[in-house]
Order: sequence, then structure tokens, then C-alpha cells
Amino acid sequence: MARYTGADCRQCRREGQKLFLKGDRCFTEKCSVERRKYPAGQHGQRRGKLSDYGVQLREKQKVKNIYGLLEKQFRNYFEKAAGKKGGSTGETLLQFLERRLDNIVFRMGFANNRTQARQFVGHGFFAVNGRKVSIPSYQVKPGEIIEVVESKKNHLYIEENLAKAEHRGRPEWLDVDADNRKGKVLHIPAREEIPLEVQEQLIVELYSK
Ligand code: SF4
Repeated sequence: MARYTGADCRQCRREGQKLFLKGDRCFTEKCSVERRKYPAGQHGQRRGKLSDYGVQLREKQKVKNIYGLLEKQFRNYFEKAAGKKGGSTGETLLQFLERRLDNIVFRMGFANNRTQARQFVGHGFFAVNGRKVSIPSYQVKPGEIIEVVESKKNHLYIEENLAKAEHRGRPEWLDVDADNRKGKVLHIPAREEIPLEVQEQLIVELYSK
């Protein structure tokens, strides 16, 4: 599956915000946003004020890049969210994104970032309710158990990532048993349980034009 593979830190600098795309480095003073708070590139420090459309577009790009999706994939999630009855479209959109298996693997702490989580899932590191699932976009349902498959339980990266995740903490809608390399999705997260500094309403406005 094609996806954006450019320099992660440039994306954060363009948005002027940490998108936490790299893992450990994002939590250190080596983070490029910490060091240079203006956009990358020759004219990065001279960019003017954005139009309303520009602001909406940037917010969409930001969320799309956080989850590492292409425009078409991201748009499909929006269409699904817009077609769902009840709740706000913006919150539903984020819930669909959060329930992706690669995101949950990352949030549970098995992977250092979503890119690595996607690789692990694609290589068959995880089972859902006892059945191996290698589709990163798989939508995890409340109550489902995500578990590292037996042959990967002692994988060095998994061990290291879980240790680091203990320091970072995890969202309350996920229950993780690190020793046994598994975790459970307790419920679909409400907006306030999704740790993202984004204004999803701007994305709804953009796509609703
Ligand atoms: Fe973004 Fe992480 Fe790079 Fe900082 S270190 S700019 S948060 S990807």
C-alpha cells in the first residue's frame, strides 16, 4: 500500500506543532519543533497568515499525517463518519482513526510510532481474539483482545517499546497486560479521551464545502 514516506519532522514543523511521528525522539529536546518553531524550507520563517480555507486544509493535512494516511483513505473515513447517524462527524472521524489496528498497537505501547506499528501488523505480529490479523486498517471493536503472536512475544523491539510506554502512559480506554503481551479495548474513546491537539470541526467544514 502506498503511503507518505517523507521526512516526518518536516511535517511537524510545517504545522508548527508536535505530531509525535517518530517515537522516542519526539519526547526529547532533539525534537525539531522544540529546536526550530518555524516551518522548514527557505521561506519557512516568512509565511503569511492563512485564509479560512488554508487553516481548514492544514488541519486536515495534520490529522492525515498523524495517522499516516493517503488523501483517498482519509476521505473514505470522513465519508463513513458523515454517514453515521448520531454524534458529531468530527468525533466519529477520530474514533474510526483511533480504532485502526495499527493505531491501537501504537497506543498500547507495542510499537514506538504508528509507522512501526503498521510494519509489525503487516508482518503478522498480532492476533485479534486469537486470530492473526495483518491488516493495519482493521477496525478494532470494544472487548476485542489484541495479542502479540507466540513467536514474537520476546521480540526485542516489543520488549523495549513496552518499557518506554510505561513512562509515557496509555489512554484509559485501553487495558494492557504488558507481561503477557496483550491488551483489550475497553470502549470506543470519547473525544476527551483521544490525546490529539486538533480541531476536527475544521476538517468537517473543509469537506462539507
Ligand atoms: Fe515531530 Fe517527533 Fe520530529 Fe518532533 S521529533 S518534529 S514531534 S516527528
